[in-house]
Amino acid sequence: MITVKKFGGTSVGSVEALKRAANIILAGKDSTVVVVSAMSGITNFLVGAMDDSTAVDSEVFDKFEARHMEVAKALFKGERMEKFRKDFDVRFEAFKKVYSSRNNQDDPYFKDNISSQGERFSSLVLAHLLCDMGADSVALTSEEAGVYAVGKPLSGSCDLYKTAMGMDINVKPLLARGCIPIITGFYGVNESGKPLTFGRGGSDYAAAAVGNALDADCVEIWTDVNGFMSADPRIVPDAISIDEMNFSEAAELAYFGAKVLHPKTIEPARAKQITVKILNSFHPDHPGTTIRSLRKRSGSLVKSVTMKNDLSVITIRSGELAYNPSMVARIVDNLGRHDVSVYGISTSLSTLAFIIQNGDVPRIIGELKLMRDEPIEGIDIKSNVALICVVGDDLLDKCGFSGDIFGAVKEANANVEMISEGASDVSLNFVVPAESATDVIKILHKKFVKKVDA
Ligand code: ADP
Ligand code: ASP
Ligand code: MG
Repeated sequence: MITVKKFGGTSVGSVEALKRAANIILAGKDSTVVVVSAMSGITNFLVGAMDDSTAVDSEVFDKFEARHMEVAKALFKGERMEKFRKDFDVRFEAFKKVYSSRNNQDDPYFKDNISSQGERFSSLVLAHLLCDMGADSVALTSEEAGVYAVGKPLSGSCDLYKTAMGMDINVKPLLARGCIPIITGFYGVNESGKPLTFGRGGSDYAAAAVGNALDADCVEIWTDVNGFMSADPRIVPDAISIDEMNFSEAAELAYFGAKVLHPKTIEPARAKQITVKILNSFHPDHPGTTIRSLRKRSGSLVKSVTMKNDLSVITIRSGELAYNPSMVARIVDNLGRHDVSVYGISTSLSTLAFIIQNGDVPRIIGELKLMRDEPIEGIDIKSNVALICVVGDDLLDKCGFSGDIFGAVKEANANVEMISEGASDVSLNFVVPAESATDVIKILHKKFVKKVDA
């Protein structure tokens, strides 16, 4: 049996957190592979430094070193500290060298390299801590472990086939001798041997990909809340944790804004039917959430509500749309060619509306305007909208359910701008103005997330 345990930033972000994580790892009975995020705040710090033209290199290095050495000094003494410092210095020198070249860089993957540096150091601290506690453990970068990635800068995907070979060569022999490998999350190595990140929050996905590549039995995501909850607890403080979900429910919620899981996490796990658990490293005894293909019914009408902000609805008007079917295909193809993710789409006789991220709007409007051969009569943009995603048991089979939901939205004084119902059998999605989104979440949670007789 192999279990992959992933620890997020807050779960390795302090001396106490690291000790808790180490105890959780050592309590496991299976062969264990660990995937770690950077210590909390480190990735933001690196991204901020890169974007700040006034940032002084030596100050960046001092701060980076101080944060890691502070925890190391509290954890390690004597020989252990010497060994740690030696390993730390090798990685730190490599980091300083690459960071110092930031002003004369034309490498499109440079930001991936810098933003993923934190993982190289958190993994080192955790591996040394486990060794200090008597375990056999080794820190592996994604390069050393053989985690491979493909795709564009800052939005890579894992090459599962090559990663499986990497695991066979570099990780399985360690497991066979009882060693606990601690692998850097967040990135893999691309075809040119350069770090390529999986998007912010990508260590969850890295863990699921490693789980897939190892044919693991379980992937545990250790974070700072009691599992997947009925809403973001920062918006709804009395949100409840969900004991079981299926892969589709978790994937929809993650894609539509539940930050607790990176949107791509579920696919590598679902592909091999690997159970995913979301657990609280601050309360390891809490059962958290189990995600697998089969689950028992929750007994609650709505299981969870999420919102995704920073979106726009683009509406294309043309009297030809209904009579010229290939026109829709050409427009959608244009979005695909420019790597624009579409979060929802809807058509009528003479309009085609789709939801995209605010940041993609200028680029895509430019491209649509270049489609001069198409009989487009006008393009409307509604910016700053939010997509609400409601997930529940057999939602769409419940007669009148959408009416109840939209009735509640009206109570929040919000206008529904666009609806996507029926495309997925587990969720109902609709768009509201961004400023109403949290009120809508609160009211939906209050009215529909409750225990009912199953
Ligand atoms: P980590 O550093 O462990 O990866 P993240 O900050 O990425 O942790 O994700 C955990 C956070 O996700 C929680 O602290 C919580 O604020 C937020 N969150 C948003 N939606 C949900 C949800 N539906 N259930 C649980 N947590 C959620
Ligand atoms: N450290 C990375 C980030 O902050 C990856 C992760 O935490 O999952 O985005
Ligand atoms: Mg995360």
